[in-house]
Amino acid sequence: MNGEQINSLLAQIEVRIAELESNLFPANSRSDDNSESLDADEKLSEAVNTHIRDKSRRELARLRANLDWLGGDDAGLCESCHEVIPYERLCAVPVTRLCVYCAE
Ligand SMILES: [Zn+2]
Repeated sequence: MNGEQINSLLAQIEVRIAELESNLFPANSRSDDNSESLDADEKLSEAVNTHIRDKSRRELARLRANLDWLGGDDAGLCESCHEVIPYERLCAVPVTRLCVYCAE
């Protein structure tokens, strides 16, 4: 990858991080400590929300780690085989650190 592609990836990752953060930490969110009073339907959607938030948190952590990675010496190199990961793959799957062969 050239510097331009890395910068473009960094920008895409930053946009995604901002998106996830605004979903996870909405400015006017109520606190969640009234879960005792929820009825069954609300408990179900609460469980779904918790699941989505867990996924988002993990994605956020991986994106942040990849920001560091793309700023470092081994930017864009597969964690496993150290081959160059194509720019197109990183655009499609910005949380990955594996080439398509190692990811299988
Ligand atoms: Zn690999």
